[in-house]
Amino acid sequence: MFRKILIANRGEIACRVIATARRLGIATVAVYSEADAAARHVERADEAYPIGPPPARESYLRADRILDAARRSGAQAIHPGYGFLSENADFAASCAAAGITFIGPPEGAIRAMGSKAASKALMEEAGVPLVPGYHGEDQDPALLADHAARIGYPVLIKASAGGGGKGMRVVESAVAFAEALEGARREALASFGDDRVLVEKYLTRPRHIEIQVFADTQGNTVSLFERDCSIQRRHQKVIEEAPAPGMDPARRARMGEAAVAAAKAVHYVGAGTVEFIAEGDEFYFMEMNTRLQVEHPVTEAITGLDLVEWQLRVAAGEPLPLPAEALRITGHAVEARIYAEDPSQDFLPSVGMLAHLRQPREGGGVRVDTGVRAGDAITPNYDPMIAKLIVHGPDRAAALSRLSAALAEYEVVGVRTNLDLLRALAAHPDFAAGGVDTGFIARHPEVLAAPEDPPATATTVWAAAALAVLRDERAAHPAESGDPHSPWAEMDAWRMNGDGYQDLHFQRDGATTVLRAHFRRDGRLRLDLPGGAADVAATPDGVLVDGVRRRVQVVRADDALTVVLDGRNHALRPIDPRSPPRAEAVGSDRVASPIPARVVRVLVAPGDRVTKGAPLLVVEAMKTELTLRAPADGTVDSVRAAPGDMVQEGRDLVTFAASAG
Ligand code: ADP
Repeated sequence: MFRKILIANRGEIACRVIATARRLGIATVAVYSEADAAARHVERADEAYPIGPPPARESYLRADRILDAARRSGAQAIHPGYGFLSENADFAASCAAAGITFIGPPEGAIRAMGSKAASKALMEEAGVPLVPGYHGEDQDPALLADHAARIGYPVLIKASAGGGGKGMRVVESAVAFAEALEGARREALASFGDDRVLVEKYLTRPRHIEIQVFADTQGNTVSLFERDCSIQRRHQKVIEEAPAPGMDPARRARMGEAAVAAAKAVHYVGAGTVEFIAEGDEFYFMEMNTRLQVEHPVTEAITGLDLVEWQLRVAAGEPLPLPAEALRITGHAVEARIYAEDPSQDFLPSVGMLAHLRQPREGGGVRVDTGVRAGDAITPNYDPMIAKLIVHGPDRAAALSRLSAALAEYEVVGVRTNLDLLRALAAHPDFAAGGVDTGFIARHPEVLAAPEDPPATATTVWAAAALAVLRDERAAHPAESGDPHSPWAEMDAWRMNGDGYQDLHFQRDGATTVLRAHFRRDGRLRLDLPGGAADVAATPDGVLVDGVRRRVQVVRADDALTVVLDGRNHALRPIDPRSPPRAEAVGSDRVASPIPARVVRVLVAPGDRVTKGAPLLVVEAMKTELTLRAPADGTVDSVRAAPGDMVQEGRDLVTFAASAG
């Protein structure tokens, strides 16, 4: 076994690999970009080396710097994690040339599976079933359109080098093909430096079922069963589970055999995942991911194995720790990916500092894999995943109960998250019934709606906000208690004559609310709230409202206040009625980038008349394209960005001339 390994990654997966290495007594070396100098993975490792500026291509994708860190530290092997260099055959070859073990499959297997198109051709030969489609070399648009017509609409255009749902477009009819092809190519080029695509039949109600395989250098290849990853948004996984709902042993065996055949066809070694798309009783090969997957913990939960340990043993030349006959499924596991993103804005990534982070307690079937702590930032440089929550239970219903309970404990303030969506999914009767397919979220738009608060919520939120403001004022002016003009003097005054009060002004959802706080002799407050008066007191972890005790977290950031109750965030702004009202940041006369981004395309010029909703610009952040649209009918006055520009959040990109009416 290795004495020391380097982890060529960041975030939760780097922390995950370090945890197993530590358990096995293997020393760990982290690498970090300038943005990550104080990151959790750096703190967890035994030593850490800087590898360059924040953008991944100048740091985590710099094979030369990573190899240099490996040499300087004396690491014997490199674990690439997922993403970054994990499926880069040249990197695997460079490791070998430097005498360092690449903890992953041989270069040849990565190359063979690296292109979705070429791997399909290979799988066709090996007799693995494929979705009807075109995966040839000739990329002439007219030829591709011709194939699309022959396959029959709807079709799916996919980046041949694709991953993470990027460079993928569903095309409903021939008229939309050319534009979709252009978009897919542009995104593919930006994400993978390769604009080749394939075209295949778009299945309308499929499931994504993948098989975890493992192979050693002695020629043993096993299936570690399936994961169902059908709950997706923008063709990216949101919830994964194992085993797949409704899977029967015969079908599991057939899929396992097909996956093992796929791995053997490329002389696979190590951990890999063969992804299938399934509809009815049929299943078709989509691609093989030649690395550890994000969702590997659900397989760990149901098999009781540590897949990173298996990777390390196989890379060190040991045989697979267990033969196929010894592998068993115990219970059911579900993973939810917690993302910094805004589901109500088409899953736009959200950046910012995690002003507050509370994770569910681990143990008892609950596991949290994360790379961040409170105070860390989600930046536009990397994937916006905050954490993975993995639950395990004796059966699916038990696992889903644990998932709901753990999600209720999750608190994140500082970025928008998909937590409400995950909670809605975990509690959805159709999901509980096992009715999963990749269209689930689109078919159930109610899971994207803001959940309705129970009636008591508003009162608790106001009470917590009022207490927080009063406490902050007292903390800010401790010496003023003798000042007759201070609010606390009023309070003292009340203590003698019994009618002191203070008005607190808040702005919430665009409206101003005034709460009158009456101070009582027993230290409690009586608050006049929008829903009536209530007796209110602070407790060590929350508030007491008319005798009802609730756990509440209040987080102050700048001049805003967030009250976290049952895992949901309620934003308010305490205001001073004497100060002038704040100007609205962005009106309808301009369009700003909602996020730090790179401008991909500019679709309008000064003088153009546009109608509300017309596309103005395409920007790209975190490898996702976002179209910025006109907020109202109008005439473009100025365009302040050009393709290739990096723009800051809130910077005006297009302004409009005063509208004619
Ligand atoms: P990526 O590597 O970018 O993640 P995949 O090929 O793995 O792309 O596909 C991602 C997702 O896109 C799948 O899980 C599935 O939801 C959807 N998808 C892929 N191929 C098809 C298809 N032929 N029909 C319908 N949906 C598909």
